[in-house]
Amino acid sequence: MNKTLAIHGGKPVRETYLPYGKQWIDGNDINAVIATLRGDYLTTGPTIKEFEDKIADYVDAKYAVAVSNGTAALHAACFAAGIKEGDEVITTPITFAASANCALYQRAIPIFADIDPKTYNIDVCDVEKKITEKTKAIIPVDFTGQVVDLNPILKLAEKYHLTVIEDAAHALGTEYRGRKVGSISHMTTFSLHPVKHITTGEGGVITTNDEIFYRKLLLFRTHGITRNENLLENKEEGTWYYEQLALGYNYRITDIQCALGISQLERIDEFIKRRQEIVRKYNEAFAAIDGVIIPHQADFSNSSWHLYILQFELDKFKVDRKELYDALQAENIGVNVHYIPVYYHPYYQKLGYKKGLCPNAERLYERIITLPLFPNMKNKDVEDVINAVKKVLDYFRSVL
Ligand SMILES: *Cc1c(COP(=O)(O)O)cnc(C)c1O
Repeated sequence: MNKTLAIHGGKPVRETYLPYGKQWIDGNDINAVIATLRGDYLTTGPTIKEFEDKIADYVDAKYAVAVSNGTAALHAACFAAGIKEGDEVITTPITFAASANCALYQRAIPIFADIDPKTYNIDVCDVEKKITEKTKAIIPVDFTGQVVDLNPILKLAEKYHLTVIEDAAHALGTEYRGRKVGSISHMTTFSLHPVKHITTGEGGVITTNDEIFYRKLLLFRTHGITRNENLLENKEEGTWYYEQLALGYNYRITDIQCALGISQLERIDEFIKRRQEIVRKYNEAFAAIDGVIIPHQADFSNSSWHLYILQFELDKFKVDRKELYDALQAENIGVNVHYIPVYYHPYYQKLGYKKGLCPNAERLYERIITLPLFPNMKNKDVEDVINAVKKVLDYFRSVL
């Protein structure tokens, strides 16, 4: 192997760029979409309920509501939980902005609790410290696919009368103490974006065992409008009649998307198995490298693995994360960083959130790089990633 780094003009480890995540579409997926296009319903048809039933069945929840994306799923869950102006909602800063934005959509206030430096998930002790009489909900995130320790969070929720909205965008198929996430928290949200475990192009789902939440989620998805006789305030008008009972949105998903979702769901076991296999290869390759911390997995979590993140003890390399990142990109490895602490974003800074709020999260952010991980990565792709990481680290160690 050519040891000169690509960033210094050497030959990259691979010729073509390897993205960090990507969908896997096969002929059955394509046929399912075509069949829907030839059918009677492009939206508000029977394929949506069929997909919802299959998701509910898969995660062992009573109800599932499919919506236009994972962010809409979080927003709908906040609405169903009754979150409103001035309420506080506790979440983690190491997540995609949507986990906190959903509180802002309801004019509530996101409160950031720090992470556990080992699992990178929200620290339950810090959650309790941040609870006030305004707190309405906790939005823990199953970061990278590793489920947050749900029992202590649900205990806190019971003690302080809070709703737990689990952001499981990374964790479809993950198990908590042998049970799939999706029916353990009061509501669980998933994303069906192409980099997630299964995709509908754009899409999201909320699962719950609570019928009242379920009804509210359905209402919110369609403008807050209902024809359900049991809900109407004026029942006498006539059969054309419907009522808008709340300010909802058009957050509907299409039958076309749900047809793709049904087809994708048939392969989820295969997708997860392959993700886990790649993670084993990565762990084997990186565990013994001095200065590299592989992802810690808590014993209560069996992860379906959305992201694979390496943490670097940067003092052992005398480079910063930016140089490592740029060097790996130059080798044609599509590395990424998950995530910029949410409150670092200018929008949050202007709202008054100050750096220093969550020291563990901020320290982690300086030290992490996400490696490519998706189910149809070939073994050669996995080897290229491993070779590139070793090549780059060897170089930056030798220049110490
Ligand atoms: C992807 C993601 C979302 C949002 O999902 P979209 O479908 O992209 O709207 C929310 N939270 C987390 C943690 C995510 O990774």
